[in-house]
Amino acid sequence: MSEHFDVLIVGAGISGIGGAYHLLDQCPGTSFVVLENQEGFGGTWRTHTYPGIRSDSDLYTFGYRFKPWTGKPIASAEAIMEYLGEVIDENRIDQHIRYGHEIRSASWSTDDKHWTVEVERLDTREHSTFTCTFLWMCQGYYDHKKPYTPQWEGMDDFRGDVVHPQTWPDDLDYAGKRVVVIGSGATAATLIPAMADDTEHITMLQRSPTYFAPRANVDELADQLRSLDVPDEWTHEIVRRNRIKMTNEIDKAAKAFPDMVRDELVGMAREILGDDFDIETHFTPAYRPWQQRLALIPDGDLFHALKDGKASVVTDKIERFTAEGILLASGDVLEADIIVTATGFDLSVLGGVTFDIDGEALDFSNTVTWYGAMFSGVPNMVWVFGYFRASWTLKVDLLGDFVARLLHEMSDRGASMVVPRLRPEDEAMELRPWIEPDDFNPGYVMRSLHLMPKQTAEAPWRHLQDYLLEKDALPATDLDDGTLVFD
Ligand SMILES: Cc1cc2nc3c(=O)[nH]c(=O)nc-3n(C[C@H](O)[C@H](O)[C@H](O)COP(=O)(O)OP(=O)(O)OC[C@H]3O[C@@H](n4cnc5c(N)ncnc54)[C@H](O)[C@@H]3O)c2cc1C
Repeated sequence: MSEHFDVLIVGAGISGIGGAYHLLDQCPGTSFVVLENQEGFGGTWRTHTYPGIRSDSDLYTFGYRFKPWTGKPIASAEAIMEYLGEVIDENRIDQHIRYGHEIRSASWSTDDKHWTVEVERLDTREHSTFTCTFLWMCQGYYDHKKPYTPQWEGMDDFRGDVVHPQTWPDDLDYAGKRVVVIGSGATAATLIPAMADDTEHITMLQRSPTYFAPRANVDELADQLRSLDVPDEWTHEIVRRNRIKMTNEIDKAAKAFPDMVRDELVGMAREILGDDFDIETHFTPAYRPWQQRLALIPDGDLFHALKDGKASVVTDKIERFTAEGILLASGDVLEADIIVTATGFDLSVLGGVTFDIDGEALDFSNTVTWYGAMFSGVPNMVWVFGYFRASWTLKVDLLGDFVARLLHEMSDRGASMVVPRLRPEDEAMELRPWIEPDDFNPGYVMRSLHLMPKQTAEAPWRHLQDYLLEKDALPATDLDDGTLVFD
């Protein structure tokens, strides 16, 4: 026996909870279930428990458009979890979520016009089957179970602990220890100031530098509006629009005037670290600003930890691990009691779920994306893949509206199937990678690009990664242009 739902949402992270909200709000009466393999909601914010864990974009835009954010712009995982918990409680979403349910496979049947989803209950190891008309993939973009750790020679020789931030041990005692953090992304930038006061010393070891934007963790506009007793809903909307505009302007400037933006970012680092600090070596990346994610560092905390001497940064290559620490290409040795590999994620295409369409295995890399959300030849399915250069969640609300529109359209037409198909005039379009490496090229994306769907230069077969364009284009898109086939 299998249970049937109109919509099945995969994942109870910020995307899945947002999806559930929009179904309740915009499609009352639609039956749906959220299946989540972890034992609670939150996704990213539940998985990561390392010291200091926080957002690296502001919560006016990383929060939903429908629930005002009232805290500091950059927020701790704890505050984000509280916010998500309130969304669940206020909208009684919990009755729709089943935890500990891992989706293994999804099979589409054109005869039956539904997906059959095989699920394993992780507590009892029981297998069960669900069917659904529409599948809403909110499983994020990386493997939650296995982080990315490169293998270095001699790792087994090291006598201390090697830990990855994604699988942080609750009982790790780093007080008075010498810690080396490998990596210089947002995670390293969070860990270092959070641990620096307790460790004997903490070192950020990077192969190459990253841009950071130190900013006071306040929003003056929000504070001013609050001082005028403007309702929270208005403050949220106004500050959100302002933040979206500012982020977009920086993004555009980074492309049009990369040297100017680079100088500005490097200047901000110099302002805190001082002229004696070797900013050229440690904080002047070779890539264009925003070609990889630009992390905000609240109140410049990473730079202050470095300035105070509690932490240091080394830019070098790892030759090998030794019993005492790390031997570098320069011949220097970094002695350590603990090595933290803040080396990032492994991209997971569609949550490790095996897909087939009418019995034929689906290879997503052979599909072309429709607005970065649907895929040629894949019926009744939307995937939330958020923005890199703006908050992920902006796409969640946008797709919430779109899925509701699509479901209403299907109902109005009496259709039980909608599938993106390349029209004859689309067939000749040049296929491009999911993300153009010249545009955005962090390691975790580049390592898995060959597994991802393709895009073209023309809408709707385009993965725009531009919220301001998409927020107008997607709602206005013509559902009758022949790229979506209803049956
Ligand atoms: C440390 C960290 C900080 C970040 N900070 C920001 C930020 O400040 N701003 C920003 O825009 N982005 C940020 N990101 C990116 C972030 O992942 C997303 O913004 C957002 O949290 C993703 O939400 P999601 O719900 O789409 O996916 P996730 O948070 O990844 O949640 C997906 C859920 O689906 C579950 N799942 C996956 N596969 C299956 C399956 N087969 N069966 C059942 N369940 C499944 C997962 O276990 C998980 O609980 C950050 C990422 C990390 C790792």
